[in-house]
Amino acid sequence: MKITFPLMGNMYIALKAVFEELGAEVIIPPKCNKRTLELGTLHSPELICIPFKITLGNYLESIEKGADTLFMWGGSDPCRIGYYNMIQEEILNTLGYDIEMICGEPFKNLKEIKSFLNKLSKVSNTSNYFKLLPAFIKGIKLIYEIDEFDDLVIKTRPREMIKGEVDKLYSKFEEEVNGAKGYKETLNIIRKKKEELKNVLIDKNKQVIRIGIVGEIYTVLEPYINLDIIKKLGNMGVEVHRSVTSSEFIKEQIDFLPFINSNKEEVHRAAEPYLNTEIGGHARHTIGNTVLYSEKDFDGVIHLLPFTCMPEIVAQSILPTIEKEKNIPVLKLILDEMTGEAGYSTRIEAFVDLLQRKKEAYTQ
Ligand code: SF4
Repeated sequence: MKITFPLMGNMYIALKAVFEELGAEVIIPPKCNKRTLELGTLHSPELICIPFKITLGNYLESIEKGADTLFMWGGSDPCRIGYYNMIQEEILNTLGYDIEMICGEPFKNLKEIKSFLNKLSKVSNTSNYFKLLPAFIKGIKLIYEIDEFDDLVIKTRPREMIKGEVDKLYSKFEEEVNGAKGYKETLNIIRKKKEELKNVLIDKNKQVIRIGIVGEIYTVLEPYINLDIIKKLGNMGVEVHRSVTSSEFIKEQIDFLPFINSNKEEVHRAAEPYLNTEIGGHARHTIGNTVLYSEKDFDGVIHLLPFTCMPEIVAQSILPTIEKEKNIPVLKLILDEMTGEAGYSTRIEAFVDLLQRKKEAYTQ
């Protein structure tokens, strides 16, 4: 069995290690690129959201490299994510590929965790929970470690004394982590790089602009689709905070367990005056986190959404009210395969410039 999965930011590092722990051969799709999107778009329904197209492109590129088993997250949201795996499987079968699709559903109780472990047993050829459960826990641990590492990168980049040092370290990290095998080697590399990051010289007193990123999870986490916005902003001297991360997403799935606390309740409470029901995706989080960023004195918020994303379109229509009531500037960026980098960068630069001038005026 040669297993693959779609890319969504750094989540692949943990998935790769888990499947390797379970004894599977893992094929990582090439980093998302123009060809990935073109391939995916060519075989996708025209008006489907862009994450569908890119992830289908990931599969096609992995199948070219020999993958025969595909792993995908499903969902029961009132949006299209719940159908992704079925439609993608059908498209790939129509194209003549003989593949098996394994779909993990979000967990809401112990029974669903058990059913997920049963799906993992297809990968490992064992139904022994003493082997499956530790691999699952190690995967979650790695997701946490990677997010901690990424948060440190985000905090260090705008304050680095030698320009480009963090980016150089990050490229080295990607190279080493891709060459690692299994949990232990992967964990050691993340920890080693975290220590190296702590040694990067920074200007501790630098006054930086703080921007919160809200929006649909895939567009927030996958640098190809958001044109590397987090790195771009960091190199412009902006400290970014991602309102959705893989670790927080996992935490929210398992916070029915007594020792796990997620931010979900706090975010939903903040969103309540504007949106008090679930409409799918991360729309409720977009609203709640924008309110929370305004209360935490962030300078601005950037809202990322894929073109035709139903839940985020609703959130987008509510954000101008919050912008006015909470006095926090919000920049909306809609992403699709037609997004041009030059225009996109200009809008971000103009927004940062506006926030900088606003901050200076306020300080004076
Ligand atoms: S959240 Fe938006 S982009 Fe994601 S699957 Fe749903 S509709 Fe598509």
